[in-house]
Amino acid sequence: MIVGVPKELYPGERRVALVPMVAPNLVKAGLEVIVETGAGAEAGYPDAQYAEKGAKIAPERKAVFAQADIIVQVLCHGSNDINGQADLPLFRGGQALIGFLRPLGTKAVLEQVAATGVISFSVELIPRTTRAQSMDALSSMATICGYKAVLIAADTLPRIFPMLTTAAGTITPARVLVIGAGVAGLQAIATARRLGAVVSAYDLRPAAKEQVQSLGGRFVELPIEAKDAQDARGYGTAQDESFYARQRELLARVIAESDVVITTAVVPGKKAPVLITAEMVQGMAPGSVIYDLAAERGGNCELTRSGQTVVEHGVTIVGRINLASSVPYHSSQMYARNLTAFLLYLVKNGKLQLNGNDEIIRETMLTQGGEIVHARVREFHGLPVLVSQEAR
Ligand code: NAD
Repeated sequence: MIVGVPKELYPGERRVALVPMVAPNLVKAGLEVIVETGAGAEAGYPDAQYAEKGAKIAPERKAVFAQADIIVQVLCHGSNDINGQADLPLFRGGQALIGFLRPLGTKAVLEQVAATGVISFSVELIPRTTRAQSMDALSSMATICGYKAVLIAADTLPRIFPMLTTAAGTITPARVLVIGAGVAGLQAIATARRLGAVVSAYDLRPAAKEQVQSLGGRFVELPIEAKDAQDARGYGTAQDESFYARQRELLARVIAESDVVITTAVVPGKKAPVLITAEMVQGMAPGSVIYDLAAERGGNCELTRSGQTVVEHGVTIVGRINLASSVPYHSSQMYARNLTAFLLYLVKNGKLQLNGNDEIIRETMLTQGGEIVHARVREFHGLPVLVSQEAR
């Protein structure tokens, strides 16, 4: 089987789906790798490195799509809402596609992907189980985002992070608050701690407390309890507006005392909850920084502008999106390792293993034979249960 790696199309995207160092593993398993010329250049992987590791270089994008049995991408049409559509005519029925497809995004876009006949696998749907841990691309990208958000916040803040005792007096450490202690939040805590800040964090999932503390953060306890805070897959759940109102009220004081707030609170398939109002921003000291990692999902701060950095009431609010792309070398490396683990699982004896009884395959497959086939995604988009799935 041939795995094709086209150059990413999304404007400014610097990542690549496979890096040279994974090619030997794929070749050993009987897969061929074909890479569009220049696909890895922005991430620090020139064509020559791919060739050295046994991959072929295709001079044209069309050739990659024409030759490959499996196309691997970072942002496919679905998550690439700017120009991802340009690839649709290049797909052919029965070809496999693996990448970020935003399954809980727009139904019409998913239907366009389905209509090409590709068997698509959405990395956002990879189960968060021990067995699939090595394939978990969402965690990889969240790790990079949590790290980089802290660096940008530190660079923007007119203060330094560590405590310093100098001949010119003592400098107090910066106070960083992380709201949402999932994968990105935990990495933000670890990074801010390494830079010497005093870090506290809050999450509505009580299970996050121990993880925050193990990284040297203080867990902010609020006297409210979320109903069924965590779903079966480990995600935080949506709460009603009265819960969010109470959260905002209780968080106001901690936010006002923080120099930097990093927010990551999201709920799958829902708009991110607003946890910081304009009034709360006004309560922060001038020069403070909010990095809203939920910006793409509507933002945790009322004043966030997705994709932009704004200054309101003297507070810089960073709503920059697609942050993983700004660390392209390592985000591509991590993503490529996740995809390799998935590919080696999916392809056995030169064939795709499309076993609907296999949890990883069933949970990840989004489209096949012209239809959206993922049961939960169908339900989310209000599509009827497929006849073939009724018995399940
Ligand atoms: P995410 O990106 O969906 O959400 C980020 C965080 O925001 C979550 O911790 C969530 O609880 C929190 N949040 C949501 N609403 C909130 C609110 N109103 N107030 C405060 N916090 C709020 O989460 P994620 O980083 O993808 O991780 C979700 C969970 O899955 C975590 O428990 C993580 O440890 C777990 N996980 C498990 C595995 C595995 O077992 N292989 C892999 C990755 C993640």
